[in-house]
Amino acid sequence: MSKKILIINTGGTLSSVMKGNGLMPGLSIRDMQKELQIVSGDIDIEIEDFCSLDSANIFPEDWSVLAEHISSRRNDYDGIVVIHGTDTLAYTSSMLSFMLRNINIPVVITGSQLSIINPVADAMENCRCAIHMAASRIPGVFVAFNRKVMLGCRASKVRSLSFDAFESINYPDIATISSLGMRIDEAAVPERTGIFKLANTYSDRVGLIKMFPGIHRDVFESMAERGYKGLYVEAYGIGGMPFLKHDFITTLDRLIKGGMTVVIGTQCVYEGSKMDVYETGRRALEAGALEAHDMTCEAALTKLMWILGMTDEPAEIRDYYSMNMAGELTVKR
Ligand code: ASP
Repeated sequence: MSKKILIINTGGTLSSVMKGNGLMPGLSIRDMQKELQIVSGDIDIEIEDFCSLDSANIFPEDWSVLAEHISSRRNDYDGIVVIHGTDTLAYTSSMLSFMLRNINIPVVITGSQLSIINPVADAMENCRCAIHMAASRIPGVFVAFNRKVMLGCRASKVRSLSFDAFESINYPDIATISSLGMRIDEAAVPERTGIFKLANTYSDRVGLIKMFPGIHRDVFESMAERGYKGLYVEAYGIGGMPFLKHDFITTLDRLIKGGMTVVIGTQCVYEGSKMDVYETGRRALEAGALEAHDMTCEAALTKLMWILGMTDEPAEIRDYYSMNMAGELTVKR
């Protein structure tokens, strides 16, 4: 029996047309039906519009509704493809990896760098890859782009123009397409750890700060004063924070004692943090900061939003954050 895939359109460049104010999503899924049918081969597709947004306009409330929608359709299809703008795609794929943890079907997010109406676009190739991954019966949340499939919580947009826009960070690709066909590395697919249960709540009181020489501590303090519950800090190198002339450790200590959850990661794209090496990292850990290790920025941030949407209990937050929930974190033993 042929497989049945649902394709949900949220907008982005793939569906874009040139209008007076510049390139914007304008094609409905019906306008793209012919192209989608061509790349699906003998797979049955059903299509629907969810929204038609440049992904800069996608916000956590959209993730929550999208996760609920996918959850409600999961038993009607062999897999689901989500067409999404590339700019915030990795945030969406990371958050969906948490909200849809242990989902029983493949959910594959894709987009493109050129509109599907452009004859030299990457759009059809990316949709082809996504649809065939969605028909693979391998459950999980994935990103398909430029003939490769990545884990949703490991993908990051690393190039703004090239077709090779996404990379899987600190984790092998799940699948690649070559002259050998689609090769899936099943050993790289995280095992489902339990029964699926939609978990689409989140906290919108989470901030992201990138450290730079010259940053003022009052940036941290003003976030606490404004009621932020969580902060993800992109620190230096393997996770260093300043403590001499400008003592950020005392500031962190105060915020953490006041109930804020602070996670520290690295500004480096590859290889993650290792905060127990330098004094600049150890002091932050002693102040009670959590560590992002090898998570992407997108995964570290959305994981914090997701956990703080479930609990305010510091011990629970710490436990959940240090667990590998969906393949986003390499837990060292
Ligand atoms: N600005 C577009 C978006 O993220 C870019 C793209 O889709 O490639 O919606």
